[in-house]
Amino acid sequence: MIQEHSKIKYFLYCRKSTEDKERQVLSLDSETNEMKRLADNLGLDIVKVITESKSAKKPDNRPQFNEMVDVLKSKKDHDNYGILCWKIDRLSRNPIDSATIQWLLQIGKLQVIQTMDKQYLPSDNVLMFSVESGMANQYILDLSKNVKRGNNTKLEMGGWPGKAPLGYLNDIATKSIIVDKNTKHYVQKVFDLYANQNKGLREIEKTLFEDGLRTRAGRKVYVSTYHRTLMKPFYCGIMVRGGKSYLGKHEPLITKELYDKAQRVMADRNKPKRRTHYFAFRGIMKCNICGCVLTGETVTKKIKTTGEIKTYNYYRCTNGKQNCEAHKKYLSENKVVEVTTELFKMFSFDEDDIELAYRAKKEKYKNDENYHLIKRDNIILQISKNKQKQNKLLDSYLAELISQVVYESKTQELKKDELILENQLRNVKKDDNGFATLELVKNSLKTACLAGNSFKELKETEKEKVLNKLLWNCKIESQEIASFTLKSPYSLMQKSPKKGDFHGWSG
Ligand SMILES: [Zn+2]
Repeated sequence: MIQEHSKIKYFLYCRKSTEDKERQVLSLDSETNEMKRLADNLGLDIVKVITESKSAKKPDNRPQFNEMVDVLKSKKDHDNYGILCWKIDRLSRNPIDSATIQWLLQIGKLQVIQTMDKQYLPSDNVLMFSVESGMANQYILDLSKNVKRGNNTKLEMGGWPGKAPLGYLNDIATKSIIVDKNTKHYVQKVFDLYANQNKGLREIEKTLFEDGLRTRAGRKVYVSTYHRTLMKPFYCGIMVRGGKSYLGKHEPLITKELYDKAQRVMADRNKPKRRTHYFAFRGIMKCNICGCVLTGETVTKKIKTTGEIKTYNYYRCTNGKQNCEAHKKYLSENKVVEVTTELFKMFSFDEDDIELAYRAKKEKYKNDENYHLIKRDNIILQISKNKQKQNKLLDSYLAELISQVVYESKTQELKKDELILENQLRNVKKDDNGFATLELVKNSLKTACLAGNSFKELKETEKEKVLNKLLWNCKIESQEIASFTLKSPYSLMQKSPKKGDFHGWSG
């Protein structure tokens, strides 16, 4: 029963009783807005919007209502009038006014009453209207609907219908949000530290606690609160409720630019880091039960309060032969580091001892080296003299100064000498390599020291280097090292009973 609305002129009638106090004015606004929306939807032609803050409990208490009734009573034939109102109780809550409206409907002076959910037409049962307007003494609308409506209107007017966030206060007198002079600087500092100074939430928590910030109840403000604070566009003047944004009337504490920057920083930090994972122990450790290489896996965990992403490395048997139960157990990298650190304790030499032994050995090499140089130069000189002799001999033979027999026997002698000299020169060069060997031993010892004294503290990449230098393989069973093979020269060091015995090892 859709009524032809196009020719009907509507009065939009909104009323709220003054007895309802505080929420009154607001609800009247929101009611009006809702009614206008409905009129838009139905395509109703509103000729007048009437808002009245008067009680409808007594008759003749509402001047604007009476004015409207007068217009209706004096309606000309070509006019068609309707009333748009929230509920029928807005029009009347007393029998006199109810009867007036009822009569106007009955005689056709009023064509239609449109409420949010119903249409009342002249042809409708008069009794129904009576019953419904009689029921109007009760509040039909549920409270939550009213509140929600009120909130929306408040937001549309730039007000915040809730508790003021950190940095602001609720001004009870004006029902508005005002800046809290005691805490606004803290909020500004949080945004500055986070967006401009690249500080983490933990650090912010610590700093602001030291700066004296506490909750209203006097407690410490935690990371999670700062996290929420940083996400509130409220601080740059934008209010968000129910997925919609509203422009707030309150004074912003930060600029939109700073707010946006903080959001970018947060998005960046929450992005899972696509960094390559170092599985320092991969390839070195094997399952002692089946002999398969242990594989590395990463588990990423997001810490709820801070939003930080942390990764943990685990190892487990690849079970390549499908017959190993050990693959079900995961071995945390922390545990591997622990057992390896224990293993490398055999190398916990005194670094100073190594350095001293190295220097002494180097001194000796230096003294030796002078003799070596003389020796080598002399041999080279002898070789060159030998070659000269051979050349002269050849010249003499070609000039027919000597016989072929003499030439051949003399040349053979020289060639023999040459071979001996060349052999001697090679030996001298071998001695030179001793110096390089010394350096090599020293470096190996230093690596062993690093493994023995501070393996745990090494960076992932350094751990990997040390492991590859020291170990061939390392068999793991039940979270412990079952067996291992050391690379040379570390296997020699392992056998050496005396720690820091440089001479022993360099031999
Ligand atoms: Zn296995």
